[in-house]
Amino acid sequence: MRKLDTRTIVVASHNAGKIREIADLIGPFGFSAKSAAELNFVEPDETGTTFEENAAIKALASAKAAGLPALSDDSGLVIDALDGAPGVYTANWAETADGTRDFVMAMARVEQALAEKGALTPEARTARFVSVLCLAWPDGHTEMFRGEVEGFIAPAPRGTAGFGYDPIFQPKGYDTTFGEMSAEEKHGWKPGDAEALSHRARAFKIFVETCLEG
Ligand code: IMP
Repeated sequence: MRKLDTRTIVVASHNAGKIREIADLIGPFGFSAKSAAELNFVEPDETGTTFEENAAIKALASAKAAGLPALSDDSGLVIDALDGAPGVYTANWAETADGTRDFVMAMARVEQALAEKGALTPEARTARFVSVLCLAWPDGHTEMFRGEVEGFIAPAPRGTAGFGYDPIFQPKGYDTTFGEMSAEEKHGWKPGDAEALSHRARAFKIFVETCLEG
């Protein structure tokens, strides 16, 4: 395991929601972080078939372009009744004909697919959010950290917080969707805490334990 010995990194993302969440999570560690979007880096094609492959593509592209370590996130919603879809194609499900992303449409598409399967009860609508963080160095070395949170797809979107599919994901043991939680509740973690809630915060906690501490 390679430790991170600089406090300057690139957040290898063009997704405003993810950039904000990663900024929240790394804030307490005193990093100076710029995103690939701010640096005007070209967004690489995500040609992988796993979260790990796509996370590596993004982190390596930014690390090489910046000459600095880069942290990426590849994530998605894995729905059991849909045989794991949308999975690595979670962002694609939101794509519109004009190339923008529409998550109201994407959430309706999920609901339609579940209705076609007759998946109407919470037990039939189990799902997990997955986040794979990849830390890459300009020399091509990578470290991966995977976080998952179990839950189910709510009968209809609820809440306006967060981003993407947050209004339809209700984590196990909670009455609220991620869309109804503050950022602090969704992460469920700050340095020193034993547990985290969101997939991204769970992956981030492993990143901290592996690459920052000790
Ligand atoms: P990618 O990692 O850029 O391929 O895209 C991940 C997709 O999953 C995006 O469409 C996100 O909106 C969605 N996603 C990932 N994490 C979250 C989350 O924490 N909340 C809501 N949607 C998410």
